[in-house]
Amino acid sequence: MAPITVQPPTESDIAQFPREFALYTQLKPTADGAVDAEALGECVKTYGSGESLPASFSSGSVPFELVAAALVKKGSTVDGSGNCLGYAAHDNTGHLVPWKFERRPCAADDVRIQVTHCGICHSDLHQLKNDWMNSTYPMVPGHEIVGIVTEVGSGVTTHKVGDRVGVGCLVRSCGSCRACSAKEEEFCGKMVFTYNSQDHDGSPTYGGYSTHLVVDKSFVLRVPENLPLDAAAPLLCAGITTYTPLVHWGLNKPGTRLGVIGLGGLGHMAVKLGKAFGCHVTVISTSPGKKQEALEVLKADDFLISKDEEAMKGAYDSLDGIIDTVSAPHELRDYLPLLRFDGRFIIVGAPMCDMKISPFELLFKRLTVAGSLIGGIQATQEMLDFCGKHNITCEIEKIPAEYLNTAMDRLVKNDVHYRFVIDVQGTLLWQP
Ligand code: NAP
Ligand code: ZN
Ligand code: ZN
Repeated sequence: MAPITVQPPTESDIAQFPREFALYTQLKPTADGAVDAEALGECVKTYGSGESLPASFSSGSVPFELVAAALVKKGSTVDGSGNCLGYAAHDNTGHLVPWKFERRPCAADDVRIQVTHCGICHSDLHQLKNDWMNSTYPMVPGHEIVGIVTEVGSGVTTHKVGDRVGVGCLVRSCGSCRACSAKEEEFCGKMVFTYNSQDHDGSPTYGGYSTHLVVDKSFVLRVPENLPLDAAAPLLCAGITTYTPLVHWGLNKPGTRLGVIGLGGLGHMAVKLGKAFGCHVTVISTSPGKKQEALEVLKADDFLISKDEEAMKGAYDSLDGIIDTVSAPHELRDYLPLLRFDGRFIIVGAPMCDMKISPFELLFKRLTVAGSLIGGIQATQEMLDFCGKHNITCEIEKIPAEYLNTAMDRLVKNDVHYRFVIDVQGTLLWQP
């Protein structure tokens, strides 16, 4: 089928049809607007009217407005007002419902992003349920966000309309403190989280379970062209949270014997990144059912069941480092013996509990026990580029927005393969 040439959208077309512009952009139009006719037809079937392309599309050049009209899909009515549609919890039951709210207009340094996909991190669940005792409602979670730029402020030169971008856990910091100067914005005292946080002007922040975002340019990341947006979304948190400690503690050297506790969203990324660095990777899991895939698909070298005392004893003194991604209370002393001398035990999982350690568990092998929080913006870009180079994405279950509460119930039961990603562009829909 001959390509279809679409007349370039104007600024006002994009403002009127941001979702449809994001869909069209993913068809990778050439400079003169030519898109693959079959791909456009598929896109209209899946994301738009559901009908076949009008015959008139095959001759001459089609105005963008007509393509956008074919890509419109109606959602159901949601009460309230606001320029953004999201899913919000209104209390610590964590139950999510459609909710309209207002995002700020794009200021000079801002980038407006049409969200295409958003991953579901276990931290979203912790905060929905107020596990960390700091939740404010209404809460629109989501910090594994990818999408397409639809508008940039006058001071933005780093991103342009049509770019594939991502936003992780941070949307602002002070820019001048010791942490910010060291490009470790995650430790800035004035750092603002993407949701459940307060921006510097006092307004609440709302995350990526929503149709669009407006974010300061310094916190917008570039998603490599070769990575599909849906499977790249969880890199924005699960990816960076496991990449940072591997690099920071020198566990990224070929031959490093790396252990990963918990094979969920973070854990499976730690395995993939560890393998890309050339490590020998051992998964330490409570789920025997995850073994085959861990070895065959994720290419882990070993798989230990943490409740199997014999197997755990057999692995004593075998690892240089462990990344602990467990989301529920657990005992460090079950795992520390796996480390050899100078071993590093890095906690990234965030259950709200105390963890006991006896000095003797550390002294006799000069062990380090440390924590690690996401990563800075520069490191996040470095991680994304590393994933682009090595073609690393997440294993995902793509879900419609209306499946969110079921997904949360399944996450509680450790029933996810390995990350839920919301198909925002396909299922979080306005009633136009
Ligand atoms: P997840 O997908 O639910 O994975 C957690 C894994 O922990 C599960 O797949 C399970 O693996 C294991 N697990 C669950 N209950 C367990 C138990 N009682 N004992 C031992 N293992 C258990 O969660 P996630 O999204 O990867 O997040 C993991 C944790 O990291 C959460 O607490 C989250 O808040 C935190 N987090 C921290 C940061 C940071 O910056 N530090 C960033 C993001 C997330 P097996 O089935 O293999 O045992
Ligand atoms: Zn997260
Ligand atoms: Zn700062």
